[in-house]
Amino acid sequence: MWFLFDIAGDLRLFAFVDTKTQIAKVVVDIALDREFDYRVPEPLRGQVLIGSAVLVPFGRSRRSGYVVGFAEGSERADVKDIMEVTGTVPLLSADIVKLARWIGDYYCAPVEHAIRAVLPGAVRRKGAKFKECLFVFPVRCDGQAHGPDIGELLKRSPGQAAALGLLGATADGIALAELARRAGVGVSAIRALEKKGLVRIEPSAVGRNPFMGRTVLPTSPRDPTPEQASALSLIRRSLDTVSPPVVLLNGVTGSGKTEVYLQAIAHALDGGKGAAVLVPEIALTPQTVERFRGRFGDNIAVLHSQLSDGERHDEWHRIREGKARIAIGARSAVFAPVRNLGLIVVDEEHDTSYKQDESPRYNARDVAVMRGRMEHCSVLLGSATPSFESFYNAQTGKYAMVRLTKRVDDRKMPAIRVVDMRIEADRVGRPNIFSRDLVTAMGLRLDKGEQTILFLNRRGFSTSLQCPKCGYVARCPLCSIAYTYHRVAEGLRCHVCGGARRVPEKCPDCGDPAFKFSGMGTQRIEGIVSKLFPKARVRRMDSDAMGGKLSYEEVLDDFRTGKIDILVGTQMIAKGLDFPNVTLIGIIYADLSLYVSDFRAGERTFQLLTQVAGRAGRGDVPGEVLVQTYTPMAPAIRSAVAMDYVGFYEKECLERRELQYPPFSRLVCITARGPSDERVVVGMRELCERIRRVMPESVTMRGPSPAPLAKAKGLFRHQLMLRSRVVSTITTPLRDVLKEFQWPSKVACSVDVDAISLI
Ligand code: ADP
Ligand code: ZN
Repeated sequence: MWFLFDIAGDLRLFAFVDTKTQIAKVVVDIALDREFDYRVPEPLRGQVLIGSAVLVPFGRSRRSGYVVGFAEGSERADVKDIMEVTGTVPLLSADIVKLARWIGDYYCAPVEHAIRAVLPGAVRRKGAKFKECLFVFPVRCDGQAHGPDIGELLKRSPGQAAALGLLGATADGIALAELARRAGVGVSAIRALEKKGLVRIEPSAVGRNPFMGRTVLPTSPRDPTPEQASALSLIRRSLDTVSPPVVLLNGVTGSGKTEVYLQAIAHALDGGKGAAVLVPEIALTPQTVERFRGRFGDNIAVLHSQLSDGERHDEWHRIREGKARIAIGARSAVFAPVRNLGLIVVDEEHDTSYKQDESPRYNARDVAVMRGRMEHCSVLLGSATPSFESFYNAQTGKYAMVRLTKRVDDRKMPAIRVVDMRIEADRVGRPNIFSRDLVTAMGLRLDKGEQTILFLNRRGFSTSLQCPKCGYVARCPLCSIAYTYHRVAEGLRCHVCGGARRVPEKCPDCGDPAFKFSGMGTQRIEGIVSKLFPKARVRRMDSDAMGGKLSYEEVLDDFRTGKIDILVGTQMIAKGLDFPNVTLIGIIYADLSLYVSDFRAGERTFQLLTQVAGRAGRGDVPGEVLVQTYTPMAPAIRSAVAMDYVGFYEKECLERRELQYPPFSRLVCITARGPSDERVVVGMRELCERIRRVMPESVTMRGPSPAPLAKAKGLFRHQLMLRSRVVSTITTPLRDVLKEFQWPSKVACSVDVDAISLI
């Protein structure tokens, strides 16, 4: 038996073990989907707590693991003793352990994977600790005694005097290396000062602050607009209730959702609570973080995959120790050890980057909702284009919803215009990448010194060329595999025989001109724009062009400060960026994301177009958006242009309801892969048989069939899709089947609960 202690709203870290309790449930650091029983030996009683890292004998070796629970006894006779407890305080709170267990259970993942997910590697690793470095502190002296010395010093070694001057009377000290650099002297000069008894040098922990050297202008809360005010009053009320409902904030781009987050967080802080803010990985730019730092300063800690391990370690501990009350980060920030968590904000809640694409395949938005329920804290989901799942939950009353329908300051929504590229192709006699309208509009912006963004929503997975109309795929005639499209050379290449060919201008089968667009990269667009407007300053931003964090920030900085006229980019530029001088957005080929074999293709396209269009006209000049498309009548495109989210949702839902797709059902996707196609098929058929025997009738099965991405990295892939109204109807029997199931050799399988990518 164990019970929890709640010390003044502390993390409830301190689970005390009843003396009768003998057995700890331990998750060992190998991916076995089990908890193992270990005895807590007498000397370790009271030290082994929920979340403790421990060392245990395992087979013939010793392993590290985490304690996730206790039991009075074990069914096994041969229980071994825990050998050692690592660290003094558990890194995992009992709440987070509970959340991890839920994740393992819900997403059919090994508990060990779930534990890994909730604890960053930088914190988990042995020897992870705060970095120490040497600091220089002034030694207080009574002016008189040292006065003459300093005068003397100034004459003999001005460098030392300068260092002393810089140090002044600071109580925090200055890092040795930094002081030397700033005084323009060597470290030995400072050492000399130490010898003279004028300064003290000693090691001290430095917070590796990822934003060192950046100054942030403090901001104060704006007077909320009437819509913001009513949203805030609902959220405040929710924050003050014991079991608050999830709130969906559906606000058009530029309606001031972020300001609502900021004021909601301030309210949580006033109530003595902390907050976690989730933003899509791609939107986690300094610009976003600065809006939060501007309001809350050092109370913000950032968790980001691009931080160094050291920075991550320090930021994580700052949150855990309560030195920072607000955590902001991408997906994994949902596990931030915020003390007395009062609010979780999930910005752009529809974003697919919240879903982890390896085990455990959790969706951080849904984990946020679950954590909110477990820790009785408010959850605020924000989006201009909510996922259908969330909007459905709002419509059925499971979530509360508030809407922001207007942009702040009566700024106009951008005017969106469709350019029918079929007519354009007829006019010029051949398909064109840029319509005349778009070229004219760009020229106009250049003349006026305004900025343009060109957006290409290149689809994410396929590197082969496929005709969007007839499905023709360019294949190597010798090897009967698809050519791989090479962006850099703008050509096709067979990876088996090395043969190459140029990209055809149109589909060899049906002549559709859109064919070549499916392999078109931003690089090519950049080239064409530079030719069209030789004087314009053109830059490209996509994951190929971006080396690391810095070049990404550099490009954004250059764009913000007007050093770039035309920015060409992919999804990277669609999210969260706020550039007042951007008055034109050109969407090169809006249809691209429509041709993905996924029932959510329309939803994704609608979201993308809306997000991109939202980047225009955020300043005083209204913006214009030109959407080039070959299918202007596609519902996703028509509704996006009309800015009609609800209409689009309702239309799409007619079909989804009929086919029993989410949000009207829950979906589990099982993918098996292996080097032998035959073995994968055999294994998958066998699995289906077993599943069919135990699944209730209410579960719909589709497959097994080759996955849309039928082969990847030399592995053949087959899929099975299961749907049901309640997810546990599928996962409970499925877990049992998978536990026993023997796959043919070299076949691996993954289970994706609430799958959002079906390739
Ligand atoms: P969203 O997150 O919905 O896209 P933002 O929060 O970025 O919108 O707001 C758009 C712009 O309006 C920002 O520049 C923001 O500073 C400003 N803003 C937001 N709320 C207010 C307000 N109540 N009064 C004045 N300006 C505001
Ligand atoms: Zn074709």
